Amino acid sequence: MNIDLPQHLPNETILINDVMKVENGILKLQFPMNFHDCMYALTYYMKGNERCSYCSKTFPKEKITLDHFIPQNFGGPTIPNNLFPACKNCNLEKTNMLKPFYDNYLSLPTRGEKKQFLSDFQQIAHFLHRWYGFSFIKDWVEEKEINHIIVNISLNGSYKGKKYKKIKNYYKEYQHFQKPLILDHKNFLLDGFNALMFAKDNGIIEVPVIVLENVEVIF
Ligand SMILES: [Zn+2]
Repeated sequence: MNIDLPQHLPNETILINDVMKVENGILKLQFPMNFHDCMYALTYYMKGNERCSYCSKTFPKEKITLDHFIPQNFGGPTIPNNLFPACKNCNLEKTNMLKPFYDNYLSLPTRGEKKQFLSDFQQIAHFLHRWYGFSFIKDWVEEKEINHIIVNISLNGSYKGKKYKKIKNYYKEYQHFQKPLILDHKNFLLDGFNALMFAKDNGIIEVPVIVLENVEVIF
């Protein structure tokens, strides 16, 4: 898939311009970089940092966050296509709800009903995680053999911390990964180091990935 990109990135508007540039429709990321920081900066550049996408009110930029439209625990990747400026209230309120559920939640008139809805949603979410896997982002995801994924180990030397445990626990419960790994168009790993290590440690040969065709890591 292609991520949403501007034609070019003016130097002065991007905080981390020394590590990324857009050339001929390709986003070039200078290694080493923080992939999430790059995606956040890109999204703010394209979508602004003043107006909340949900309540439509304007805020000072320090009150604006980025919401994962498809929540991360449903596999939603950290790329501009899935990130929307949101005020802290809306982001917190939407939490891990998919948009149709959030719309239902907002339509409820009383606090009591909202509270009940959230409690019911946790049950539904459990069912969705178990049976639907990556169906919400299925057009973006493919399977790839871990042998074909290129990783620079020096960037992420240690693992088996909290993130690794989270992946392990989720996999144990649902028998699939919570999020796909993210690769550039040459299969260089951009996001998902712990998931890749978990796959290696457990003899899992193929993992779900999102290949970003218009992104390239440069050295
Ligand atoms: Zn809002």
